[in-house]
Amino acid sequence: MAIDRIAGEHSLAFIRSEQLLDLARRKSLWYMSFGIACCAIEGLMHASGPRFDFDRFGVFFRASPRQTDVMIVAGTVNLKMAEVVKRLYDEMPEPKYVVAMGACACMGGPFREYPNVVMGVDKIIPVDVYIPGCPPRPESVQYGFLQLMEKIKLQTKERLAARSKNA
Ligand code: SF4
Repeated sequence: MAIDRIAGEHSLAFIRSEQLLDLARRKSLWYMSFGIACCAIEGLMHASGPRFDFDRFGVFFRASPRQTDVMIVAGTVNLKMAEVVKRLYDEMPEPKYVVAMGACACMGGPFREYPNVVMGVDKIIPVDVYIPGCPPRPESVQYGFLQLMEKIKLQTKERLAARSKNA
């Protein structure tokens, strides 16, 4: 066991329940199987395939927004689609996170001149991590998720620190 290596054999470790929940959450981020355009096929599906094996990070896709922690917006968001993206986001349980994948989701990408294209999905929902590229490599998607895990860890740390300061 890793804890034996850190604290010695037959040791006890104390952890706050919130830290335990945080650990469980960030090591099993489930994302919605939802793709809008080429990024979903070229980067996202590839990242989940056997070569890059997203599963080893505890990252799986689910078919319902009610069972997901993360929405990956992979593709060009047009005005018609923006309404659907917002509705799916609203149906996700808290705490929820959003990853903007690819130039289109980050800032409109190669289609930003078109009047029906949203200049980045952060115009409609809050974004936690941006992954640039057209399309981003599967490794970039995985790196983006590692950054998201770090962000979740930091948020929990800050919350606990603020609580003990106020106690
Ligand atoms: S960023 Fe490039 S690959 Fe991704 S959806 Fe836009 S055009 Fe397609």
